Amino acid sequence: GDRGVYNFAAGPATLPESVILKAQSELYNYRGSGMSIMEMSHRGKEFDAVIKKAESDLRRLLSISDDFSVLFLQGGATTQFAAVPLNLCNPEDTADYIVTGSWSDKSFKEAQKFCKPNLAWSGKSDKYTNILPFDEIQQNPDAKYLHICSNETIHGVEFKNYPKPKNNSSILVADMSSNFCSKPVDVSKFGLIYAGAQKNVGPSGVTIAIIRRDLLGHAQPITPVMLDYKTHSDSASLYNTPPCFAIYICALVFEDLLDQGGLVAIAQNNAKKAGLLYEAIDGSGGFYVCPVEKSVRSFMNVPFTLQRSELEKKFIEEAAKERMVQLKGHRSVGGVRASIYNAMPLAGVEKLVSFMKDFQARHP
Ligand code: PMP
Repeated sequence: GDRGVYNFAAGPATLPESVILKAQSELYNYRGSGMSIMEMSHRGKEFDAVIKKAESDLRRLLSISDDFSVLFLQGGATTQFAAVPLNLCNPEDTADYIVTGSWSDKSFKEAQKFCKPNLAWSGKSDKYTNILPFDEIQQNPDAKYLHICSNETIHGVEFKNYPKPKNNSSILVADMSSNFCSKPVDVSKFGLIYAGAQKNVGPSGVTIAIIRRDLLGHAQPITPVMLDYKTHSDSASLYNTPPCFAIYICALVFEDLLDQGGLVAIAQNNAKKAGLLYEAIDGSGGFYVCPVEKSVRSFMNVPFTLQRSELEKKFIEEAAKERMVQLKGHRSVGGVRASIYNAMPLAGVEKLVSFMKDFQARHP
């Protein structure tokens, strides 16, 4: 079932071939039910088994304790930008935001509608190529939480470890959309983790939230019922009709990740792929340039430019002819971006690296 393409898209993104094939085989008649999973009640026994397995496999993958609720939500990570302040603080409260790229900048701006967020640090003046040492970050002692984006999908900046909120009652909140399940994470260090599924674990349409249970039930009174995490926690993500098919695909991906040995094995594979690609960039004598400071380079999204920027279009076009697609950088920053999520095989990265060397040789 080799489709012959390496898809470097940032999201929706490539999914494991085995998952797509399994979904295909079960699509028409799901396990003898005479229906596809898309056609069934979300309260029936088949879907009930799917969502329970999705949750229990995710709990195994990330070793999530019962102190946390695991939620399958809609509205994308963007909706969480509002839900976070609505659930975790009052309008007059402050919260710290570390802005390391476009996505955390968006979350910071959205929070301004619902609380008084403090910009604890911004990497904007360095064009989002770095993360300040944590002890130099200006945390507000009154902050209700500290918000980070663990991996900036556009700028390719990734936290390799995590800051601690300054005051003991504050909590760490992370948008993990683009590196969710790419490596082990100590969930107990966080109060809330959220992630759109469409990069590492599924299709678009479902957003996963992992929230410490003691944080539930304190939402601002104006919070729409759908944005209150307690609503979804109390009803096991079945308050209203959930995105059933998307959750089903996530369940298949989680099972596949466990079959591959879990997140330790996945992380090793991801480190190897990213290492190969950064080595090719750094070893090109300046032909390819990655602006991100080495210690915070993303293992998921690798942005780079060509020193001769007039060659970028040709690079992307020729790569596409060789069946390496979706390499164009985000429209806001240009250049090239190779997203190499869990499901990108090592062979895909090796092919890209050899194409890069060949392209350079042809453009002396
Ligand atoms: N945060 C990050 C880190 C992202 O990469 C994205 C999407 N690319 C978002 C938030 C927004 O996600 P959504 O489109 O699911 O709202």
